[in-house]
Amino acid sequence: MSAGPILIVGAGPTGVGCARELVLLGHSDFEVLERADHAGGLASSVVDGAGFTWDLGGHVVFSHFGEFDRLLADVMGDDLLHHERSSFVRVADTWVPYPFQNNLHHLPPEMAEEALAGLVDAGGAEASRNDPLDFATWMHATFGAGIVRQFMRPYNEKVWAYPADVMSASWIAERVSVVSWQQALHSVVHRRDSPGWGPNNLFSFPAVGGTGEIYRRAAAPLATHVRYGTAATQVRAGDHVLTTAAGDRHYAHLVWTGPLDVLVRLVVDAPADVVAAADLLVHNSVTMVGVGYEEPVTDDRSWLYFPEPDVPFYRATNFAKYSPANVPDSRTDRYSSWMTEVASSPWRPLDHEGLAERVDQSLRRAGLVSEDARVASVHVEHIDYAYPVPTLHRDAALAVIQPWLMAHDIHARGRFGAWRYELGNMDHAVKMGVDVARRLVDGTPEAAWA
Ligand SMILES: Cc1cc2nc3c(=O)[nH]c(=O)nc-3n(C[C@H](O)[C@H](O)[C@H](O)COP(=O)(O)OP(=O)(O)OC[C@H]3O[C@@H](n4cnc5c(N)ncnc54)[C@H](O)[C@@H]3O)c2cc1C
Repeated sequence: MSAGPILIVGAGPTGVGCARELVLLGHSDFEVLERADHAGGLASSVVDGAGFTWDLGGHVVFSHFGEFDRLLADVMGDDLLHHERSSFVRVADTWVPYPFQNNLHHLPPEMAEEALAGLVDAGGAEASRNDPLDFATWMHATFGAGIVRQFMRPYNEKVWAYPADVMSASWIAERVSVVSWQQALHSVVHRRDSPGWGPNNLFSFPAVGGTGEIYRRAAAPLATHVRYGTAATQVRAGDHVLTTAAGDRHYAHLVWTGPLDVLVRLVVDAPADVVAAADLLVHNSVTMVGVGYEEPVTDDRSWLYFPEPDVPFYRATNFAKYSPANVPDSRTDRYSSWMTEVASSPWRPLDHEGLAERVDQSLRRAGLVSEDARVASVHVEHIDYAYPVPTLHRDAALAVIQPWLMAHDIHARGRFGAWRYELGNMDHAVKMGVDVARRLVDGTPEAAWA
C-alpha cells in the first residue's frame, strides 16, 4: 500500500519526528514546509549578540516514550547533561520547595495553618477523584481555600493568563501534584521536605546549542525534503491542494503541525460549524525576557516560580546552570543568565512599559542577582502561540474540527495541531509525529493522540 505524497507543514518536533519516521519506513515521497529558516519551532534556541544562548521559554528534556528516547540517543548521543530538578516557589518573601502543597512547613506559621485548615476542610486528594470540573472548582475541592489563595490560583492565572473558571480540569493528571491532608500534616509536623514529585524531577539538557540543538541535528539529514522560508497560505481540502507563495502543491495526506485554528482559517472550503468551533480555541502568549549578567553562577537551583503580582514573570530559569555553554565562552565563572517568562492574553494584556527593567529589578529583589551585577545582555522573544488553553469548550470544539479534517486526509498533530495541553511537550510531539507517519504508511493505529 502506498500512502502517496505526504506534505508536512512545520519542522518543529512533530514535523521532524514524522519526517524521520517516514524515512525509516522507506517512504520517500514527502516534503516538509517550514515558514521559518530553521527547524525546532517552539523548541528552538537563539544566540544573542553578546553570545548568550536562550530557549523560547524554559524547556527541559524528559520522556514518556521510547520513540523520543531513540531520537535523543540518535542525535545527541553523550551530548546531554543530566540534572536533578531543584525548584522553589517564591511566596511571602520566602522559598517553598516545589511542589508548594507538599512542602507547607516552609511557610510562615499562620500561612501554613491556613493552608492545612483548607486542605482538611476540602478533603484533600479524595475530592479530586470526583467528576470532571472546571479548574477553579477542582482546585478548591482538592486543595481548599488556603492553598488556592496563596499559590494555586494566582500562579495558574499568571501562567495561563486566563481565569481558572473558564478552564477545564481534564488536563491535570500528572501536571499537578495532589496531596492528601494527612501527607501535608505529616510533612508540616515533621518538617520533612518532599520535593521529588513529578515526571521532570530528573531532566536532561543539550550540552551545547540549547534545546534547539536537538532539532537542528534531527532535521539535518532531512535537508533535501525540507523547504525553509515557505509558509502555507491556503488549503483546498476537497482538492487536496495546499498553496504557498511558490504555487500549489497536491498531496494525498497533509500533516499539519501549526496552530489548529490557523489551519481552519486557511481551509477555504471548511464548513461553518468547523470554522465556528475553531473560533472557540483559546491560546495565550509568552514573552521570554532573558537577562545575562556579568556575575558568576553561584545559585544551584534549576527554576523558580513566582505567583505574586509584583513580579512580572511567572517563572525564572537559571539557564547557565542547565549548561555552561548557555553563556559566552562557557565562562560560568564570569557570567550567569536568567531566562524569565511573562504570559499574556486579551484577559491579561502584556504591560510592555519598562518590562526588561522590571524583570531585572525583580531578579535582584528576589536575591537571584546581586545589586551591583552588570547587565551583559537583554534578549526578548515574543511567542504568540505559547500554551493551548484547556477551556471548558475545547473538547467539544475538537470533536467537530478533527473528524472533518481527517475525513479530508488532513492530520493536525503536535502542541497546537492537536491543541491538547496534556500532549503538549516535546516527547508527545515527536511521538505524535512518529505515530501519524506509521498510520499513513502501514496502518498502525496512533497511540499518543488517540
Ligand atoms: C514556554 C514554553 C515552555 C515549554 N517547556 C517545555 C519543557 O520544559 N519540556 C518539553 O518537553 N516541552 C516544553 N514545551 C513544549 C514544546 O515547545 C513543544 O512540545 C514542541 O515545540 C511542539 O512541537 P510541534 O512540532 O508540535 O509544534 P511547534 O514547535 O509549534 O512547531 C510548529 C512549526 O510549524 C511551523 N508553522 C506554523 N504555521 C506554518 C505555516 N503556515 N506554514 C509553514 N510552517 C508553519 C512553525 O514555524 C513551527 O516551526 C514548552 C513550550 C513553551 C511555549
